[in-house]
Amino acid sequence: MKRYKIGILGATGIVGQNYINLLQNHPWFQIIDVAASPRSANKIYKEAVKAKWQMSISIPSSVKDLIVRDVQDIEKIPPDLSFVFSAINMPTKEQIKETEVNYAKRGIPVISNNSAHRWTPDVPMIIGEINHEHVNIIPIQQKNHGFKKGFIVVKPNCSLQSYLTPIYALEQTGYKVDKLIITTLQAVSGAGYPGVSSLDMIDNIVPYIEGEEEKTENEPFKILGKIGNNGIENDNSIKISATCTRVPVSDGHTASVNIKFKDKIPSKDEIVNIWNSFKSAPQELDLPYAPKQPIIYMENVDRPQPKKDRDKDKGMAITVGRLREDTVFDFKFIALSHNTVRGAAGGAILNAELLVNKGFIN
Ligand code: NAP
Repeated sequence: MKRYKIGILGATGIVGQNYINLLQNHPWFQIIDVAASPRSANKIYKEAVKAKWQMSISIPSSVKDLIVRDVQDIEKIPPDLSFVFSAINMPTKEQIKETEVNYAKRGIPVISNNSAHRWTPDVPMIIGEINHEHVNIIPIQQKNHGFKKGFIVVKPNCSLQSYLTPIYALEQTGYKVDKLIITTLQAVSGAGYPGVSSLDMIDNIVPYIEGEEEKTENEPFKILGKIGNNGIENDNSIKISATCTRVPVSDGHTASVNIKFKDKIPSKDEIVNIWNSFKSAPQELDLPYAPKQPIIYMENVDRPQPKKDRDKDKGMAITVGRLREDTVFDFKFIALSHNTVRGAAGGAILNAELLVNKGFIN
């Protein structure tokens, strides 16, 4: 298998560090370029990141002495770079959009964690197990923007896969969903580093995360949509109401979900069976970062829990539990996924593997 030389934009941040951690033994991808803000540019990586390094491993030797490039210094992109993962936090979304477009114009595919391009109609927002076919919009995007080899693919908000994948599995089996009420309990690592002040988080819950409820309520529409002539046409047939909170957990976003079906209502046993047997393209293609069983139902009444369950199958499996009948809707359950792995770096690595497999990256 060819080894692809890749870069990380935002390599010094929380998500960037997760890429470095997860890719250290990746069979297809080799990090040769790390880029960040002008504050870090021209320093060796270990000096730029210093005490900000949050991973439990030491900085891999293949990365620690790389010179950090300024993200805007496009002239210094190594000529043999196959693509970049983008995890930059800039003052405005417009700046992130423009930066990612500049890479795509330069012929570099961008696989992004940022929300900036999530609503650009011809940019696919991919969860590998749900809408892998949306990658087929890439030729339309390239034509629309005059990109030759480059393109932009994004992944959704970091908590979405935990509840949308189980919902999608049910819809696929013919159990159409009418309404969802979702309450998230999101980890502090979701706010990056240094993120939320420790005085706000210790002994506390913050009942507001800017922009998060809108993402939870709207991003599923694009993911569940279909490719149209000029972009993804949304499917907004499920009504979603969300409350998003920040809780004192290091990693792992939990969601409490109430679900009402349209007409046919499955039994509890059927739902558990649908979830445990669900598989999709990443599993069928045997992609290196695909979890073997993407949704794991946990029978114990007190699971899933972030500390015990977020790392299941490399942090890529979604765990669900506490499925029970609801007195107002039909059912309710708890869902959990690792926000910086499945919800960020790991989810984007899986998207990159899909794009290689489908021939969009070479
Ligand atoms: P972070 O820890 O704050 O890291 C931000 C990164 O962006 C750093 O590498 C930083 O470089 C770089 N940066 C800051 N200002 C810049 C500029 N003006 N030009 C170029 N680079 C700049 O943030 P994060 O949590 O890793 O998140 C990164 C992105 O991923 C955000 O858009 C976030 O919304 C998204 N995301 C995060 C999560 C999560 O769970 N944390 C999940 C999904 C998506 P310096 O070190 O040089 O400042």
